[in-house]
Amino acid sequence: MLDFILDDGSHLLSHLGMTGTWLIGETIKSGKHTHLTLKAKHHTLAYDDPRRFGHLYYYSKAEAEKKLAELGLDLTDPDFTLEYLTQSIKRFPERALKVTLLDQKYFAGSGNYIANEICARAGIRPTRKCRLVKKEEFPKILKAIHEVLAPALASGGTTFQGGYRDSSGEKGLGVQHLVVFYQKTCQLCLKTPVKKILLAQRGTYYCPLCQK
Ligand SMILES: [Zn+2]
Repeated sequence: MLDFILDDGSHLLSHLGMTGTWLIGETIKSGKHTHLTLKAKHHTLAYDDPRRFGHLYYYSKAEAEKKLAELGLDLTDPDFTLEYLTQSIKRFPERALKVTLLDQKYFAGSGNYIANEICARAGIRPTRKCRLVKKEEFPKILKAIHEVLAPALASGGTTFQGGYRDSSGEKGLGVQHLVVFYQKTCQLCLKTPVKKILLAQRGTYYCPLCQK
């Protein structure tokens, strides 16, 4: 989640989805998929999103303060501990694990591909109810979060079919680390076809062999 604070104190919150990009430059030529252009004193910022998976939210100063207070810890926050993770998941016993992992009130900065990949690396089906996550699986989920985010951050985000680029227009390289999301064959066992289902209206991918 990117948070732009405008001169009047209002906020523009931007979720890149899978394919959104902010481009920053002295001048930017609008493209076919440029949805918003902001002119700052010395720079122009343009939001580009060919598949429109991103979201933009505009809030007054007061609204933004309230909204930001509701957001949970970011997945990369040093305070995001095993205890925090366990308590957050246990809060929703009847909900599917992946749906909870997408809840920004507890897992800020998560997204659909991230939640899919966490479930895969933790060996848990996305549809498993939170109350059925075993004690010894919580540390696996935490480890999976680090595995999913570390390469994506180190390589400048994840690229899907010409999607995410950093602000200078470079494409991220994180896509090579995906194990089930948009994959035909599971990249953990390297033999099982990945299953795709819809869960809470979101494309959900898992390996029937690796994920229980
Ligand atoms: Zn597998």
